[in-house]
Amino acid sequence: MATRVAVIGAGVVGLATAWALERLGYACLVFEQGAPGGGQSAGESRIFRHAHDDPRQFELAVLSRRGWREWEQEFGVRLITDDGAMVIGDEGVARLSRYADDPDSEVRELSRIEVREALPILADFDGPALIDDAAGAIRSGLTIANLIAAAGLNLVPEKVESVTPREGGGVNVLSNFGPRVFDAAVVAAGTGTARLAGSAGIEIPSSPQAHMRLTLPLSSRSPLPARLACLQDSSGAFGEAAAYGSPVDGNAGYAVGLALSAEIDPAGDSGQLGELTRRTSAYVERAMPGLEMSGAVSFQRWITELPWASDGLAIWQAGDAYFIAGHNLFKLAPALGTVLAGSVDAGSVEAGFRPEDRLGEAIFDSG
Ligand SMILES: Cc1cc2nc3c(=O)[nH]c(=O)nc-3n(C[C@H](O)[C@H](O)[C@H](O)COP(=O)(O)OP(=O)(O)OC[C@H]3O[C@@H](n4cnc5c(N)ncnc54)[C@H](O)[C@@H]3O)c2cc1C
Repeated sequence: MATRVAVIGAGVVGLATAWALERLGYACLVFEQGAPGGGQSAGESRIFRHAHDDPRQFELAVLSRRGWREWEQEFGVRLITDDGAMVIGDEGVARLSRYADDPDSEVRELSRIEVREALPILADFDGPALIDDAAGAIRSGLTIANLIAAAGLNLVPEKVESVTPREGGGVNVLSNFGPRVFDAAVVAAGTGTARLAGSAGIEIPSSPQAHMRLTLPLSSRSPLPARLACLQDSSGAFGEAAAYGSPVDGNAGYAVGLALSAEIDPAGDSGQLGELTRRTSAYVERAMPGLEMSGAVSFQRWITELPWASDGLAIWQAGDAYFIAGHNLFKLAPALGTVLAGSVDAGSVEAGFRPEDRLGEAIFDSG
């Protein structure tokens, strides 16, 4: 009989893991308390970028990019646009230029006119700019739909209450449906991972924060551009220290957010989120004259950052149970699915992904 693995969470990471496990011959049951892909993975468009502060994460992004291409072949659809990811401003340019000579990223400098060609909705920008042509916008909804079709056949609509390793091997999984025993479990439950890790005696130091972004239609005054690159803006030229953007709906719209999050207020006061919305709108008005402010739609989710880096991630282990936490995981999902499936297969977390490895930490000399 095939080894049975419980995967808790049908977001992009849990689905990628189930798909990788099934290809290794494991039998998976995927638990999802809500709509598959409805947690942190919800909403159209995510940025795929190679640029990370930690060169180990650059290598992971390279592996992941290959994984995205494999998924595209398996599913027969294009999942990452070929419009590239552009950085403007000193900080982003310094980060990406570290990888400029690596053949896996396709980094080139942009002139003022080329910035405009890469992202015609952006206001005039005359400063340092680079683009990675091997990066682009992830079609997140299409990704989830294809992963569900591939790996979601054994998806059960159940909320998991606890995940506890058994003495001598295996894992007890208790859901609202009742208890079950599995040979192993992978918990990729997004904001729910820390609580389930607690039931296995593990403390994950992630505190949820609220993040929001706006999605806006392109101005109807101009024709749809052939190219809309993703953006990471650390220039400060448009009144915010750090902002990002990525195209949606075949370039008919653009999602824009600030690299900021708000404390979660248990009393439900959304004052900080309201302030983030106001600042994001002001940024769009200054930076993106090619977008229609009147059509803005707000999208909010809790995110789970680890204390050592905004891109930090780690996998915790308790017996045969594995727990993943971190932020900005969408772009890395193909690689993370492979790593989590490989960890189950090997019986231990792959080196480099344990909490003590502090993956994502900025280890470049800032000088
Ligand atoms: C606005 C925004 C923009 C972002 N931009 C980017 C980007 O540009 N690039 C990038 O790479 N990443 C980005 N991210 C982050 C990325 O989307 C997330 O890191 C990623 O989607 C996390 O996927 P996941 O599968 O780990 O978690 P989730 O998608 O949250 O999936 C976890 C699932 O587990 C389920 N669950 C939780 N608890 C239980 C339980 N007890 N029982 C059963 N089911 C449970 C939840 O319902 C959920 O569906 C962004 C996130 C947001 C919110």
